Amino acid sequence: MDTTPISALAPTLTRLRTAWQAHKPDLAQRRDDLRRLRSAFKARLDEMTRVIAADFGHRSLDESRIADGMTVLNDIDHLLTHLPRWMRPQRVPVGWRFWPGRAWIEPHPLGVVGVIAPWNYPVNLALIPLATAIAAGNHVYLKPSEHTPRTSAFLRELLAHVFPPERVDVATGGADVGAAFAALPFDHLVFTGSTAVGRKVMAAAAANLTPLTLELGGKSPALLCDDFPLEQAAARIATGKWFNCGQTCIAPDYVLVPADRRDALVDALRQQVQARYGAALDNLDDYTRIINDGQYARLQGYLDDARAHGVAIIPLAGQADPSRRLLPPTVLLDPDDATRVMQEEIFGPLLPLKSYRTLDEAIAYINSHDRPLALYPFTHDRARLRQILDATLAGGVSINDTLFHFAIGNLPFGGVGPSGMGAYHGRAGFDAMSKALPVFRQARLTAGDLLRPPYARVRWLLDRIVR
Ligand code: NAD
Repeated sequence: MDTTPISALAPTLTRLRTAWQAHKPDLAQRRDDLRRLRSAFKARLDEMTRVIAADFGHRSLDESRIADGMTVLNDIDHLLTHLPRWMRPQRVPVGWRFWPGRAWIEPHPLGVVGVIAPWNYPVNLALIPLATAIAAGNHVYLKPSEHTPRTSAFLRELLAHVFPPERVDVATGGADVGAAFAALPFDHLVFTGSTAVGRKVMAAAAANLTPLTLELGGKSPALLCDDFPLEQAAARIATGKWFNCGQTCIAPDYVLVPADRRDALVDALRQQVQARYGAALDNLDDYTRIINDGQYARLQGYLDDARAHGVAIIPLAGQADPSRRLLPPTVLLDPDDATRVMQEEIFGPLLPLKSYRTLDEAIAYINSHDRPLALYPFTHDRARLRQILDATLAGGVSINDTLFHFAIGNLPFGGVGPSGMGAYHGRAGFDAMSKALPVFRQARLTAGDLLRPPYARVRWLLDRIVR
């Protein structure tokens, strides 16, 4: 797909902003936009799954329907249901000193929101921020990933069909276009991508004091306790890890497992994998490929490095095939922190199992690393769960499962520290892309009019107020 010339970015932003200033979308307009987006998108869901599959070499059509289809529809429904209430001004008490004045907070749109999206859920991570920005009354300029060019073309066409170009526009291109895009003076910028690029985006945004939502990555642990049933844990970890072949920001990156359960967990994971994809990894419809040769080489590099460090590497089904970018579900036994696979976000189908002896040791391991985007404790023991939740801090938590907190419209989604800042989804996104305008309205008669020099005349009043 064509790359947008960098010289065209700033004029497009000006066009979007001028149009927004002339006509800020009201409730009726926003609802109409969301409804039309929903129905145009729904009508093209099958096409979307095929387009994403072509970009990946192959991507499970059903996983695309779930992760890039259902989630978007669900989020738009949530926005449509709650938008009228979120837009209502909210009265706040002023306190007796300011009686009989009144105060309230009313949400206002910010202007033009920029959205930079990655390749791994190329529709979800473009359309959910976009729909949220539209719900909050903004115009949107979207920059999808260069690694999914067919999906970017699909998004451009879909959005051009739903929105006039002065309300929503799309810029395409690689890191150079991304860098120029992040340097535009947006009213808010939502960036989803790697922590390394997130740092550059924040530096670029700083020049304009552009407010940011940074949705980044990192290593999200699953913490299996000794009370939790192993088969169920293995099934749910397998879903979180091998959905989209591990190319998920909130996939369990590694598992902390009691030392005496490690080998049984390997067996349970193998069973899960073989039941899903076949012992020879021949259910290729449901198993997604690595997106490109660069990512494949990065993951192969982790395996080579782990092998050089003497780590046991166990493929759970089938064989790797670089020509098809097919990399089997693979566990690595107890790699230490000198290995790359424990230093960098994996973002692929490799799953290190790290043995621990005491829960304190497992918690200390998590806390000695960057705050993760997600944390997955597996335990039915309430005291232990409380200990884990209180002792750690992650962007989000699913207890006794993986991924699900992402899908709940009422939960804010975002990281903490190196895994991100700010949050979106539902109300959190609406708030992030709105200005909560505080308003005070003075009454006709107010004691405030008396509080003027010469103060000696009103000291009796001050004595009653300042107490
Ligand atoms: P990436 O950071 O390489 O690229 C993301 C986007 O940024 C792309 O559109 C790219 O063109 C653009 N870009 C590149 N250089 C830029 C620059 N200097 N300035 C501005 N934009 C620039 O990420 P990726 O490889 O596409 O995605 C994988 C990463 O994204 C992983 O780290 C993953 O954890 C993270 N991720 C996070 C979430 C989340 O919600 N927190 C979701 C999905 C992926």
